[in-house]
Amino acid sequence: MPSRALPQRRVAVIGGGWAGISAAVHASQLGQAVTLFEMAPQLGGRARSLYDNTAVSSDLGGAPLDNGQHILIGAYRHCLELLATIGVDHSEVLLRLPLRLRYPRHEGLSLPPGRPLPSFVRGILAYQAWPLAARARLLATAAGWLLQRFQCAAELTVDQLCADLPAIVRQELIAPLCIAAMNTASGQASARVFLRVLQDSLFGGSGSSDLLLPRVPLSCLLADPAQTWLQDQGSVLRLGQRLQSLEQQGNQWLADGEPFDAVILACTSAEAARLCNNNAPDWAFKARALRFEPIITVYLESPGSVLPAPMLALQEGAQAPAQFVFDLGQLGHAPGRFAFVISGAAPWVARGLAETGLATLQQAEREINWHSPPKILKVLAEKRATFACTPDLQRPAARISPGLFAAGDYVAGPYPATLEGAVRSGRTAAITAATGHW
Ligand SMILES: Cc1cc2nc3c(=O)[nH]c(=O)nc-3n(C[C@H](O)[C@H](O)[C@H](O)COP(=O)(O)OP(=O)(O)OC[C@H]3O[C@@H](n4cnc5c(N)ncnc54)[C@H](O)[C@@H]3O)c2cc1C
Repeated sequence: MPSRALPQRRVAVIGGGWAGISAAVHASQLGQAVTLFEMAPQLGGRARSLYDNTAVSSDLGGAPLDNGQHILIGAYRHCLELLATIGVDHSEVLLRLPLRLRYPRHEGLSLPPGRPLPSFVRGILAYQAWPLAARARLLATAAGWLLQRFQCAAELTVDQLCADLPAIVRQELIAPLCIAAMNTASGQASARVFLRVLQDSLFGGSGSSDLLLPRVPLSCLLADPAQTWLQDQGSVLRLGQRLQSLEQQGNQWLADGEPFDAVILACTSAEAARLCNNNAPDWAFKARALRFEPIITVYLESPGSVLPAPMLALQEGAQAPAQFVFDLGQLGHAPGRFAFVISGAAPWVARGLAETGLATLQQAEREINWHSPPKILKVLAEKRATFACTPDLQRPAARISPGLFAAGDYVAGPYPATLEGAVRSGRTAAITAATGHW
């Protein structure tokens, strides 16, 4: 962050997801007069709790459900810094676990604690469920990626990148990792972005591959404390206000008629495209061209049941939608409540939520030993959960026009649609808007 005193400018942030929160917090830290517009009654965007949904909590207590289970990893440096800035102790609100893929009835791959590179090598060598030749091939391939500094041709898919790996490694490691990290199937996902995720998570420094699981409802993790922090700093929060219009007038921008020196569009790409269509049609065209992938979360309840770990991997298949299950009772929520996550869920959205819920329930009954029969609590679909992270994707730039900036997980950057990508882009937009550099 620039440390010298900057002239105070009036900065409007449009959208209060993690990118908008990050932009508002950083702009405020830089001494800017911040006004944040958020169309929903609460901050948080796609990573929020459903406070109005406690009616579904049955007899298990009233803790709110989240709009979808989220995982952070140790490499999410900007997210952790943002939490620290607003006074949230991440060791209290996030459960840190070494990367370990456990299935309900068997162990999967795990990385022992320690320095990333030796830990990766030891973890792979020790995983005897794969033939030695398969392990050796994976290590040789990973060494090649390392030597090439995790770079590859932009047009490659993950399947093409990994074509020489043994089928067992592609099926049991690459495909699930790709869908979990990028919410895009390995046949369509960008190899370049996948390598960047691997570089930062597996080789990014001590603890970078650790899983960080929220143990408070998502809104308590960032949105609610950020709201308090911003208000304490004197920022103006316009909750429940959807920005209708944005016009340029001289050096200023009029947001619904109110003048600002700089505007950060941290709303969804579709809304950002609508708002700047007249001023920046080329940018708006790129933002509109993005395609999206859904995620479905099926919440089940089963009083008295406890999983062997807070998070388990599941074997997905034609009749088994979910790739992961989270025991929310071990994550600070009501005991006996479980979140089943279906990433890359387009085929299941097409089959309908009722069928998906039932298929997940049957998968759960087959794969897990329950203390009491599980029941469906809620099936939630986020149809535009993340942009489809495909090769050669043209992501819209952070700079739209002088004084007008974009922040969001979809904005040009090295990561797929993640909390870290959103927070990082919000920080960059705030610094650029505050310094006025173009
Ligand atoms: C179910 C699900 C699971 C996920 N799991 C993970 C995970 O495990 N790990 C991970 O890193 N990421 C995960 N993600 C992705 C992550 O949630 C997103 O990358 C991140 O939340 C995007 O934040 P954002 O601020 O860019 O966008 P958003 O959260 O979409 O924020 C945009 C905000 O703008 C507001 N807005 C829109 N138009 C206007 C307007 N005109 N005026 C005012 N406000 C407006 C919206 O209401 C919204 O609050 C998941 C996403 C989903 C949906």
